Amino acid sequence: MRARSAVNRPVEKLAWVEAGVSSPAGSQGNDHLFDYILVGGGLQNSLIAMALLVRRPEVRLALVERRGVLGGNHIWCFHSDDVSERAGTFVDPLIAHRWPGYEIRFPGLGRVLDTPYAAVTCERLHRVVTERLSERPGCSLFLHCEVKDLAGREVFLADGRQLRGRAVIDARGPRASYPAGTTGYQKFLGCEFILAAGHELARPVIMDATVEQGEDGYRFFYVLPLARDRVLIEETHFSDTPSLANDQLRHNVTGYAEQMGLRVSGIAREETGILPMPWQGQVELPAPDGPMVAGYRGGWFHPATGYSFPVAVRLADHVSSTTPDELIGAGFLELVAEQNRQASYCYKLNKMMFGWFPPDQRYNVFKRFYRLPEATIRRFYALALTRGDRLRILMGLPPRGLSIRKALSSPLAPAQRGTR
Ligand SMILES: Cc1cc2nc3c(=O)[nH]c(=O)nc-3n(C[C@H](O)[C@H](O)[C@H](O)COP(=O)(O)OP(=O)(O)OC[C@H]3O[C@@H](n4cnc5c(N)ncnc54)[C@H](O)[C@@H]3O)c2cc1C
Repeated sequence: MRARSAVNRPVEKLAWVEAGVSSPAGSQGNDHLFDYILVGGGLQNSLIAMALLVRRPEVRLALVERRGVLGGNHIWCFHSDDVSERAGTFVDPLIAHRWPGYEIRFPGLGRVLDTPYAAVTCERLHRVVTERLSERPGCSLFLHCEVKDLAGREVFLADGRQLRGRAVIDARGPRASYPAGTTGYQKFLGCEFILAAGHELARPVIMDATVEQGEDGYRFFYVLPLARDRVLIEETHFSDTPSLANDQLRHNVTGYAEQMGLRVSGIAREETGILPMPWQGQVELPAPDGPMVAGYRGGWFHPATGYSFPVAVRLADHVSSTTPDELIGAGFLELVAEQNRQASYCYKLNKMMFGWFPPDQRYNVFKRFYRLPEATIRRFYALALTRGDRLRILMGLPPRGLSIRKALSSPLAPAQRGTR
């Protein structure tokens, strides 16, 4: 029997006879399996779903999300170069905003970069992925559905049902909490302001660091002109601690909007994030007979930006280039090796920035970085640095503000390097 699409139907109305679904009692009333069961309907699994739907029309997939919507409450931005032409086939339909370039502002340095920039909104991601799933026979979306347990070929829902598939991909979002002294944090609060009158912003400002710096780490504002009457403004800190002073940050972004001369008439949405910027880690390899662990949970993110879009796209591309039975094959291991290789360099950068620079001096690291050639900056964000890029980033005089005392007591100091 062919599965019916379950998109947007309330959970209590989903029939036990969905393909690959068996009742709590374990009655195996059908012999159909899903090809893929995607656990967690956030960015990673939504991208995997899109990649499969676009590139592998024959697959039967189930996407299981505990909340009522896919994608939570985010705008995900990325540099257009982060996405290969092939991946564009499944990413493009999700893009809500595009800009031909962006700018950065530091004391004594302003620069416009010509790398196109783009944004996927959670609303659009939810709409497009649910529509595509609903059109495809054999695919099911389970919203409001908590996954209690999972294995390489089975998923156990909290309501007692069991899904069976040829491959399970676990992208239930961040799991790790990092021990003190092994990570910094990118933390932010952003408000999407509704404007009473249009703005004059030509492009996003992804770092405005011409603001007072302090003890809570590198501080900058991020400005995204979404429409004539909509601007997202975020205050970000690259901080030693994960605590977020929401009220203060909300006050600050509102003040920043006023300073820009924007006439704010309301706040449409607010988002917050506390993303780890660790100095150690590895992609999580699947346990024997275990699921593939994807997204943030599996270590598929950029350690030096806290962002995951480019890496999540690459993994989605891989999943859609192979079969469920060969998911964890040679291609996957190559991708893991490359992710670990790229990430290991970024772990060192994090360790240096957080370990060697006092919080109020960290902006100098980025100021120096933004003097580099644009191609290196692009590859840094894409987590696709070449050997030349890696040398270029660290070569020459160190950024201003380096604390010799901090550097000597840091684990990366020359005397201790061999012991780690
Ligand atoms: C506010 C914010 C903005 C960000 N902006 C950017 C950006 O601009 N660019 C960028 O590259 N990165 C950005 N990031 C970082 C990163 O891309 C996101 O955190 C991204 O959403 C991670 O994707 P994920 O799929 O791994 O996890 P998530 O998107 O967090 O998805 C995990 C999903 O699993 C579900 N889930 C968890 N447990 C269960 C369960 N037991 N059963 C069923 N479902 C479950 C959750 O409800 C959630 O929907 C941002 C992060 C935040 C928090």
